[in-house]
Amino acid sequence: MDEMPPTQGQLGPAAPYLADNPIPTGAVVDVSNVCWSERLPPLRRHFPLLDRLELVCSAWRRRYGADSPLVLVADNSLRRALLPEDARAFRRMERVGQVRTAPTADPVLLELARDRGWHVISEDQFKDLRRLHPWIERSPSRFLSWELRDGEVRLRPSGIRRVPAHAVSLAVERKDLKHGRHIDPSVAAQERVLRSHWRCTARGCVKAFLWPDRLLDWPSLARDGTVVCSCCGFPLEEAGPRGTTRLFVASDARTGTEFLRFPISLGSAVQLGRGDLTHGVNLAATELRPPEDVRQVSRRHLMLSLEESPKGPLPFAVDLGSGNGTLLTRGTERRLDPGERIALHTTDRLVLGDAVAIRLSGRRYITPEEEAPPSLDGAGGGLTVLG
Ligand SMILES: [Zn+2]
Repeated sequence: MDEMPPTQGQLGPAAPYLADNPIPTGAVVDVSNVCWSERLPPLRRHFPLLDRLELVCSAWRRRYGADSPLVLVADNSLRRALLPEDARAFRRMERVGQVRTAPTADPVLLELARDRGWHVISEDQFKDLRRLHPWIERSPSRFLSWELRDGEVRLRPSGIRRVPAHAVSLAVERKDLKHGRHIDPSVAAQERVLRSHWRCTARGCVKAFLWPDRLLDWPSLARDGTVVCSCCGFPLEEAGPRGTTRLFVASDARTGTEFLRFPISLGSAVQLGRGDLTHGVNLAATELRPPEDVRQVSRRHLMLSLEESPKGPLPFAVDLGSGNGTLLTRGTERRLDPGERIALHTTDRLVLGDAVAIRLSGRRYITPEEEAPPSLDGAGGGLTVLG
């Protein structure tokens, strides 16, 4: 029993701003998001409150009828965050199956809404889950948030906007670092952790055994700000600054399906093309499962590099005189001249021979493991260090 039993309610007058939406059959409520919302009464109180959930559920029933089912999904952590009285009420709801909980509610509630064709009630944009749930951008009208009008809580479209691919990468990375490692890259003192290599000297630590010189993945931040091993929890030694690396993404220009990610570190260049390349990446290597029309890519098509500039490391692209050309999308589309060299923006898209699209990943921090160039069987993957 996971559906909230319908309670008394009346079908209110249709709100004009929802009139174009299909009549929903049900909705999944992002309980933690609702309870924490400072845009629900009591306003500007930064504390999770169950009363807010009731206000939102009532708004739904008024609008769509008492029989329209609601499924409530909450993060496990909400249980501990609530005030004692609310926490008791919450546990009662859990016991009778009125609310279901998960370590992270987002993936659970999105799956439910997707499979049932239901609405989602949340202020969240779910940026980090856009890749897993492409239907979010196809069905923005299924996402509802709330507003207070004349003292009454009403539902309205939450305003799901399309998120460019590089912004999705950035959101995923930030969430991984924050939840997995307790490192918030937007806080300068914490971002510093990502700029260094770290060494674990703890005896018996598996990661220290595997990587005695420097850890190949991120450390964690302890509550007191100490940088600790994500494997054994032992404080780490700093092992020198990390170089700067940017990730690039290659995808099928027609379908958008990604087939390769590769890093370029500061002062290095990589040629992209088709066939055996000594200093580059063979986009036609069969193990990559490239798009069918990859043969339209020239043998030496494009060179990408990451170079020092007064504003910091800057990625560049040069068309190497390719047969079918390179199309640059930067607001409008234009073809690069053979030999033309451009500084790449994060939102730029390059299309090689109408077949392969190249863009920068939005990620800023690349683990040493990911810094390794792709190993492609007899087909290049080498890096050229700029002289
Ligand atoms: Zn360790």
